Amino acid sequence: MGAISPVTIEAKYYRKDGENFICELCPRGCVLTEGQTGFCGARRVQNGILVANTYGRVSCIAIDPMEKKPLYNYLPRARVFSIGSIGCNMSCRHCQNYAISQSNSGGKRTTYKSPEDILSMCSKEGTASMAFTYNEPGLWFEYIMDITARAPDLRYVMVSNGLLNEAPLKELCNVIDAFNIDLKGFNEDFYMNICGAHLDDVLRSLKIIYDSGAHLELTYLVIPEYNDDMEEIARMSKWVIENLSSDVPLHFTRFHPDNQMVDVPWTPLDTLVNARAVAMSAGLNYVYIGNVMSDGGSDTICPECGSVVIERIGYMVDIIGLDGDRCSNCGRRIHITR
Ligand code: SF4
Repeated sequence: MGAISPVTIEAKYYRKDGENFICELCPRGCVLTEGQTGFCGARRVQNGILVANTYGRVSCIAIDPMEKKPLYNYLPRARVFSIGSIGCNMSCRHCQNYAISQSNSGGKRTTYKSPEDILSMCSKEGTASMAFTYNEPGLWFEYIMDITARAPDLRYVMVSNGLLNEAPLKELCNVIDAFNIDLKGFNEDFYMNICGAHLDDVLRSLKIIYDSGAHLELTYLVIPEYNDDMEEIARMSKWVIENLSSDVPLHFTRFHPDNQMVDVPWTPLDTLVNARAVAMSAGLNYVYIGNVMSDGGSDTICPECGSVVIERIGYMVDIIGLDGDRCSNCGRRIHITR
């Protein structure tokens, strides 16, 4: 146990300019000198190289339902071996995992697990898939590449904020099978003031992931008064349809007061129901409500005939209307990986 990784792994994406080390993993482009750590806590200059500071440093391990990521149209009912580390390259005021995401290298206690250790644990659990989640997994670039190279037959999932540069993201798309990306709002002011990032950087990542052919789902955490404007949600839905596909699943999830936003109330169920209706009437085919019990809001519905093909109550999942990947009522192909 300990906060410092026992291995020194050189970070892949950076360049040197005199005394400066410029990190090129994400759009922040931190400029660091010897001994300094990047904004995210996952990159540090040590003995003349940029080091992947959180390599193998695991803060959380759990066996989760795939639906908890959330991924609803990917391996429904699967159990997924889920791991996370510490650090993040955003600074969301509402972050619900801030104990690990905002932890720096000396903070949250972690355990070192080599890629072999993690794969052995996953194998003992008998899970055929692994998720990189909880904090921002893009910062674990080198660790993810090493794990996936050693066990290419597992299915890999990433739950991410999407703030990565094009080259590393394209490399990850070669090894990750399914992504859930947070689309935290749909205006630049919200992204800059609440998350400390640029919306356009995330939108570019969504296009890269979608174009790669990896499975992609989106999560939009609805925060009262901050990003719950229905016209904005309609514009976001239209953007997804025009730039990605009407088949990309979208999850509207419920906010609870946390971190620096404890004075903001829980999202009313009606707001989530309205957001779902707006996105579906814009033309999105698979829109869900999450983090709250709702009447049918988590079900997968055939876009053709309206039959419920997968029923969900919390994490209880019942596949009731699918023949393979087709609606058993009308035969329409459902966008789902089983
Ligand atoms: S990955 Fe971290 S160190 Fe690198 S640019 Fe982004 S925030 Fe800075």
